[in-house]
Amino acid sequence: MSEQTRLLVLGRQGSGKGTQSMKLAEALGITHVSTGDLFRREVARNSALGRKVSTYLDKGALVPDDLVIDVVMNQTADLAGWVLDGFPRTMAQGQALVDALDDSGVDLAIELDVPVHQVVGRLSLRRVCDGCGAISVAVADDDSIQLCNACGGHVGRRPDDTVEAIELRLTSYDRLTGPLLIWLDSLGLLATVDGMGTADEVFQRLLAVIAERLVLSVETVDAPTSG
Ligand code: ADP
Ligand code: ZN
Repeated sequence: MSEQTRLLVLGRQGSGKGTQSMKLAEALGITHVSTGDLFRREVARNSALGRKVSTYLDKGALVPDDLVIDVVMNQTADLAGWVLDGFPRTMAQGQALVDALDDSGVDLAIELDVPVHQVVGRLSLRRVCDGCGAISVAVADDDSIQLCNACGGHVGRRPDDTVEAIELRLTSYDRLTGPLLIWLDSLGLLATVDGMGTADEVFQRLLAVIAERLVLSVETVDAPTSG
C-alpha cells in the first residue's frame, strides 16, 4: 500500500461508499474523488457543467458516460493515488478507465455489499451538510434542517433522496453497474466486503481486504518462477 494506491469503491446508494471512501483516502494518503460530490458542487456553483448535469442529478438518472469520463480523466490526470467513489458505474466507464490507465491499472475494486431493503431505510435517514459534505444519520425521518457542527452549514436531505429518485438509482445500479461488477471480477480486480454494521466495523474489514489483496498481488508479481 502506498500513496500510489488506486482504488475503486462501488456499492448501492446508501451502502456507505462515500463515508468509507473518505476514510480510506485519509488512511492511505490518497485523494478522494467523488463524482457525485463533484457534480453537486458544480450544480451549486451554477457552472456550465453544473447546468448540464443538474436534471440528471435531480431525477436520480446517470449523467451520460462521455461527460463523466471526461470529468474523471481531468480530475485524476495529475494524481498518483486515488480512491474513486462513484466511478465507474457502467461498462463503458469501466472500459474507458482501464484503457486510459494502461499498465499502471487499478489496484483493487471494492464493492460494499448491503441488501436493497437495508439501503432504502438508510437513505431515508441520510443527511448531508451543504457546506462541507459531511454525512450524518438523522434521528427521525423528517425534514427539519440542522446546522453542521463542523462548518455551520445546513444539514438536510439530499434533493435526490426522494422515493422516485432512490428507486431509479437503485434500478440503474442493478441494470448498469451489475454487469460492470461481473466484468471487474473476471479481471480479478473485485473484492466484495460486507457493508453491514457500524462505519468503523466496515472500515476495519476494508483495511483487512486491502492489506490482503494488495500484498498478494505484489507477491504474485515478484515471486520467483519455480520448476
Ligand atoms: P448515489 O450513489 O447515492 O447515487 P452519488 O453522490 O454517488 O450518489 O451520485 C449522485 C448523482 O451523480 C447520481 O445519481 C448521478 O446523477 C451522478 N453521477 C455520479 N457518478 C456518476 C457516474 N459515474 N456516472 C453517471 N452519473 C453519475
Ligand atoms: Zn458542514
